[in-house]
Amino acid sequence: MPLYPLFADLRQRAVLVIGGGAVAARKVEGLLRAGAAVTVGAPALDAGLAALAAEGRIRHRAGRYVDEWLDDGGIRDGGSSAGRCWLVVVATDDATLNRRVAAAAERRRMFTNVVDDAELSSFHVPAVVDRAPLQIAISSGGAAPMLARLLRERLETVLDAALGPLAALAARFRTRIRARHPEPAARRRFYSSLFAGAVVDLLRKGQPALAEAALDAALRAPAAPAAGSVVLVGAGPGDPGLLTLKALRALNEADVILHDRLVGAGVLAVARRDATLVEVGKTGGAHSTAQDRIHALLLEHARAGRRVVRLKGGDPFVFGRGGEELEFLRARGIAYEVVPGITAALACAAYAGVPLTHRDHAQSVRFVTAHCRDSLDTLDWNALAQERQTLAVYMGVAGLDTLRERLLAHGRAAATPFALVENGSRESQRVVTGTLEQLPELANAHRVCTPALLIIGEVAALAGCLHWYGAPPLGGVPDLSLRHAA
Ligand code: SAH
Repeated sequence: MPLYPLFADLRQRAVLVIGGGAVAARKVEGLLRAGAAVTVGAPALDAGLAALAAEGRIRHRAGRYVDEWLDDGGIRDGGSSAGRCWLVVVATDDATLNRRVAAAAERRRMFTNVVDDAELSSFHVPAVVDRAPLQIAISSGGAAPMLARLLRERLETVLDAALGPLAALAARFRTRIRARHPEPAARRRFYSSLFAGAVVDLLRKGQPALAEAALDAALRAPAAPAAGSVVLVGAGPGDPGLLTLKALRALNEADVILHDRLVGAGVLAVARRDATLVEVGKTGGAHSTAQDRIHALLLEHARAGRRVVRLKGGDPFVFGRGGEELEFLRARGIAYEVVPGITAALACAAYAGVPLTHRDHAQSVRFVTAHCRDSLDTLDWNALAQERQTLAVYMGVAGLDTLRERLLAHGRAAATPFALVENGSRESQRVVTGTLEQLPELANAHRVCTPALLIIGEVAALAGCLHWYGAPPLGGVPDLSLRHAA
């Protein structure tokens, strides 16, 4: 059951901590930092807690726990109303007692945390990355606290120390920023410029006064009208890990994302939560109406001043009609950028263990599409049938028998290995290997579906020994790999 994340305001609110040892002391420390009015119930306190009690920063309720502590235990809320506390933290090493307190608190509808016991706890305390006033809380729902802690360490190293001061500064300027940029998209842009620009730089250098002056100046500068733009982004083949850092940034800054169907859910999941996602058109086929609609949408959103990401599977310039979209935008004066992506041929080859070129087997590689009969007819088959080169065939599942027939007719050996990669780089990836002679039959036998990329050439046999991702290749492994491995 997923937990509901929540940040509680505990200032002046009574919290009861049961237990007087080192674990309790650690919990008390966090609660005091949040401004809670802490009472520690225990027969005795350790030195640290005793010191806090002596300073009047916590109250000590001496003695053995009784359920009455949860009711009116004389706990005073910010000095005023006596009565129940808001939260209970149980930090004793007596399992029976822990259980008893948890049950009694549950009956009273008080949220309880039993330290290191997810089962007994009705609230969990997350691992925290503190860039106050910014806090990042991490929870594994009690499933793997160690993992949450490791993640916290990681985040500690990647999150700029200037984030805290930046958040504090932004908080003080919040009303002015809001007044200056009433429109949420523009405000977002302003905040995102804060992360990148002079203000955060100055904070990093420990010059808060100059940072503040820079922010003030930025808010006084005349407003430039929001200019819309389009970033043509290659989403890669499906594994979100194959997105570039630039793609990630574009996805995070986008107001609107127009994406192909081929773009996987994992990739879309890293986009900004409040960006508008629009699935457009087919996966790259020649659907002119769909393409016109895409053009119209690009124009509409960019002219409205939005940051548009046009997200395409693989690379936008490899069988992706990216060129046509740019021509359209250029003719209408819309600013654009292109972020390349990992194209299917590169990704499928890598994830199937097929080096596209190899000193012993292939000196060149060609990217071709065999999308329809027409596209097959326009290809230079004499050139394609040459030995010691690799063909990466896009959109080829339908015309495999024609492809085999042409290649054989132009002299490619029947024993030439192939690797057909379905859903490359995704969890569902399958690789079928065999020889050119068996190509359509093997593809049929294994019911290979789109998207699939076909690699033909001597190197394809290496999938048999170099594969590393997912299941080993289906179908026969041609000789070459065996020779090579030997
Ligand atoms: N611009 C894309 C290609 C679009 S054409 C790119 O650079 O990858 C669509 C074809 O790409 C599909 O029919 C298939 O042949 C190939 N393709 C795209 N993603 C793929 C994937 N994850 N696995 C296998 N083939 C893929």
